[in-house]
Amino acid sequence: MAGIYCLFAPVEIVRAAGAIPVSLCGKREKPIADAERTLPANLCPLIKSSYGYAVTDTCPFFSASDFLIGETTCDGKKKMYEFLGRIKPLHLMHLPYSAAEPHALRFWHEEILRLGSFLEESTGQRIDKDHLRFQIRVHNEMRKLLRKISRFQATERVPLSGLDMLTVMETKSFFVYPEKYLDLLRVFIAEMEAIAADGFSPFEPGAPRVLLTGCPIGKGSEKVLRIIEECGGAAVCIENCTGVKGLDLLVDEEEEDPFLALARRYLQIPCSCITPNTGRLALLDRLISEYRIDGVVDLSWHCCHTYNIESRVIGDSVEKGHCLPFLHVETDYSNSDLEQLRTRIEAFLEMARWGSSAHGAVKKPCIELPLST
Ligand code: SF4
Ligand code: SF4
Repeated sequence: MAGIYCLFAPVEIVRAAGAIPVSLCGKREKPIADAERTLPANLCPLIKSSYGYAVTDTCPFFSASDFLIGETTCDGKKKMYEFLGRIKPLHLMHLPYSAAEPHALRFWHEEILRLGSFLEESTGQRIDKDHLRFQIRVHNEMRKLLRKISRFQATERVPLSGLDMLTVMETKSFFVYPEKYLDLLRVFIAEMEAIAADGFSPFEPGAPRVLLTGCPIGKGSEKVLRIIEECGGAAVCIENCTGVKGLDLLVDEEEEDPFLALARRYLQIPCSCITPNTGRLALLDRLISEYRIDGVVDLSWHCCHTYNIESRVIGDSVEKGHCLPFLHVETDYSNSDLEQLRTRIEAFLEMARWGSSAHGAVKKPCIELPLST
């Protein structure tokens, strides 16, 4: 089993080497106190929680992992990996910070090949190119099915709550047999079609449609999402690593060198660790239109500098470009600010309900897109 921490981990190669990738990102507050014995307190809670699980050996997936794969994304994570490497064998992929430069692709391609060598050595299994191509097809299909599921939320009567959608999306990080997982996703799509045909929705008619962007969340760190829905908002789109980020990015199945095809695909992930991160703006523009969004909430975990700084750019685009209300929240995994968050989110939802941005402009009507796209 291979423990991974990021959307940049090329899971197709991991599976082609006969290992099972599982996400080890910490989503709960409990292990943070133990992490703070080594790591500084003023660090992102996701990093501290991930490390806390490792030092306390309280995550069964961490215990079961034979080795770990990390990437040099943000500074906190890459330095935390130095400590994690003392607990388990860890392979660190060096990620270029620019996606646009041709030399960045060459460098990342080399890193993908280097990961392949590490995996072959660790698992004792040679990576067969045809099997890698098979894994690429399987994971492309998985992304298409998950995207189809998420697109049900773009309809007028939204069939799932954002919290339920989060549960569905998190399954993508914890399956053993890919083909069985694809079958389960197809069954789920059929169930969603039935629910949609019934016209069922967990939301009141007219509930403001919210897009949640920013740092990754999961069960245990979903408090902002929960408050949005408790206050009457419909969180129809979660644009972060747990949600739809990356689902549109498919690996080119026709490319002769599957390692190069993987390098191209993974380098396009619109994460704030990449600079400039124009892909995130383009993705948000499209999602705001597709999901007919009434307001955008941008979540930054404490001390996440990249998302925190980028929030200004996102806010300008949402408020001035789309004429929609925008709310930036910076918080951690504790419950100490729940009431403060609730007050801010209630006020934001009121603006979203009436279609006004902070600049007083009224939002533009959006175009209905067919479900099949
Ligand atoms: S936000 Fe960026 S660094 Fe964090 S998990 Fe996602 S892709 Fe990786
Ligand atoms: S949320 Fe930000 S600081 Fe935390 S691990 Fe992700 S990129 Fe790094």
